[in-house]
Amino acid sequence: RGTKTKYKRILLKLSGEALTGDADFGIDPKVLDRMALEIGQLVGIGVQVGIVVGGGNLFRGAALHEAGMERVTGDHMGMLATVMNALAMRDALERSNIRSRVMSAIPMSGVVEHYDRRTAIRYLTSGDVVLFSAGTGNPFFTTDSAACLRGIEIDADVVVKATKVDGVYDKDPFMHSDASKYERLTYDEVLDQKLGVMDLTAICLVRDHAMPVRVFDMNKPGALLNLVVGGMEGTLIER
Ligand code: UDP
Repeated sequence: RGTKTKYKRILLKLSGEALTGDADFGIDPKVLDRMALEIGQLVGIGVQVGIVVGGGNLFRGAALHEAGMERVTGDHMGMLATVMNALAMRDALERSNIRSRVMSAIPMSGVVEHYDRRTAIRYLTSGDVVLFSAGTGNPFFTTDSAACLRGIEIDADVVVKATKVDGVYDKDPFMHSDASKYERLTYDEVLDQKLGVMDLTAICLVRDHAMPVRVFDMNKPGALLNLVVGGMEGTLIER
C-alpha cells in the first residue's frame, strides 16, 4: 500500500470470451486464476476494483434470437450467464485470498447479493473486489453499457475494457498487417469513425459523463498493473 497510482478506483470490463481461454466454450479455470493474480496485484497496492463480467462465452441474446428464440428470453439467459461467470471469477479470487463480492442487477436471493450502489461503494472502500453481474438487468443492453453505467455510478476514475488486442486500431489488426493503433481518441472520433470499440449506448453514456475509457490487452501479463500506475497501455478514449 501507499504506492502512488494514477487510478484509485477502476471499473474493469471482462468479456465472457476472455474467460474461455483456449477452449471454445465455457470457462477455463486456468484463465480465471491468471486474472485473479493480476487483479490481486491491484488490490495489493490499494486500488479499488469493480468488475463487470460479460456472458458471451455462454449465451448472447442476439445470437439466440437469430436461431429463433424470443429476444427478451435470450437476453435474460445472457444476463444469467454473466452471473455464472461472476461466480466463477469470485471463486478464483477467493482461492487467491482476494476478498470479493458478487452483486446482481437481478435479485437472486441466496445466491448473490442484489445490486445496491451505496453498499457496493462501501465494499470497494473497504478493499473488497466487487463483481457486478446480470448486466444492467434489462434486455436490449450489453455488458459494455453495464460497465459504463456502473463505472459512472461508483465514481470510478476510469473504465478499463479488456480485449484480445492491445487497443483500438483503424482496421482489424488480425486481418490487416498495416493496421495502426490509436494512442488516444475522443468519444466523437470513436462515434464519427464508427470504430466499434463498444456499442453506441455505452459510448454515449461515457461521453455524456466524461468517463475515460481505456482499451487494453488482458492477455499481456502486467498490462493491467502498468496502466493503473500510469503506464501507456492500449488506447485511451476521453474528451
Ligand atoms: N445482456 C442484457 N442486458 C444487459 C447486459 C447483457 O440483456 O444489460 C445480455 C445480452 O443478451 C448479451 C448477454 O447478456 O448478449 C451477454 O452479455 P454481452 O454480450 O455483453 O457479453 P460479452 O460480449 O461481454 O461477453
